[in-house]
Amino acid sequence: MKTKPPLVPLGTLIRRELRHGNVEKPTVNHGQAALAKKGEDYFLIKPDCERIPGNPSTSFSVFAIFDGHNGISAAIFAKENLLNNILSAIPQGCAREEWLQALPRALVAGFVKTDIEFQQKGETSGTTVTFVVIDGWTITVASVGDSRCILDTQAGVVSLLTVDHRLEENVEERERVTASGGEVGRLNIFGGDGVGPLRCWPGGLCLSRSIGDTDVGEFIVPIPHVKQVKLSNSGGRLIIASDGIWDALSSDVAAQSCRGLPAELAAKLVVKEALRSRGLKDDTTCLVVDIIPYGYPVLPPTPRKKQNLLTSLILGKKFQNSMNKAPNKLSAVGVVEELFEEGSAMLAERLGKDLALNSNSGMFRCAVCQADHDDVSGTPSSQPWEGPMLCSKCRRKKDAMEGKRSSVTT
Ligand SMILES: [Zn+2]
Repeated sequence: MKTKPPLVPLGTLIRRELRHGNVEKPTVNHGQAALAKKGEDYFLIKPDCERIPGNPSTSFSVFAIFDGHNGISAAIFAKENLLNNILSAIPQGCAREEWLQALPRALVAGFVKTDIEFQQKGETSGTTVTFVVIDGWTITVASVGDSRCILDTQAGVVSLLTVDHRLEENVEERERVTASGGEVGRLNIFGGDGVGPLRCWPGGLCLSRSIGDTDVGEFIVPIPHVKQVKLSNSGGRLIIASDGIWDALSSDVAAQSCRGLPAELAAKLVVKEALRSRGLKDDTTCLVVDIIPYGYPVLPPTPRKKQNLLTSLILGKKFQNSMNKAPNKLSAVGVVEELFEEGSAMLAERLGKDLALNSNSGMFRCAVCQADHDDVSGTPSSQPWEGPMLCSKCRRKKDAMEGKRSSVTT
């Protein structure tokens, strides 16, 4: 007679799963909805990119929103060029882990390169960019402006993966803009107290970072805030949307309004909810992206209670305590591993210090535009530059962003 194998306690099973899990790639489902008022919102959906072209096992997805202002050309230009500019800043032949580690720096280089190229066209519009790369369970978000990306995890915790670059709400950015030669104040029509949100002058823009805005001032920089997180293998939902949504709905309300519904329907519902609460005052675009454990048809419904069985089993009391202290700090609740976060507007701090010397030709590669140069005159010895090699064009841009001089040669 055979004896039954001993039952493995659930906690052990879950621990084992967590240790060996995250092997199978999750499924990524998306939905999109929009309502136009001015027609200046654009978006990008590329679910089938490949790190190594022709090799489907190296696939990753890209989702982005571009909310243009003072015209549409910057939003269209960024939509068409940004992805390529980012990918060309990642060293060729990287393994997956290396590629993911190189991504935050490549996002910075790609944003700045796209801004320089747009500037050279001599057009005046600008755009916010919220750019999301999903590779397996790892999510990397880069953003300038105020189009947010939120993450709704299976533990019922909603958190912000972007930072709002609005002068009204961001003291650090106000100080940076002022220190770089911009003036920050409200619109003053009647000579009395200013009206409306804080803006920077010249130009009157409410944002402190964007792509484009050549005419506004170089202190409006294209250097993105970048955050990289790794989801637990219970999955999660991203809601990426322009300010038409976020001026009407809080992150929690947006997440709650569509929980348990497939992505396509969820995006429509978020837009509808924003319209219902505020009316159509602005362009409103919403992307919903579900990262779903392999083999599940849809994202499992989020438990009503903030603490579900799985997390309480693993983290016990510690989980409860940290929930009370910092409800939106993801790492504190153990549902997400925070891998990287950096928001500095200083290029030197974002690009690292290694020189990219091409061993074949002996030439230096500019860390921003990726062009090869044999002269290093872009790095004058009188002003020691701690960062990597920049060509003279990108060096001019760097100085201009720090308020030292204009990058536009007249
Ligand atoms: Zn360059």
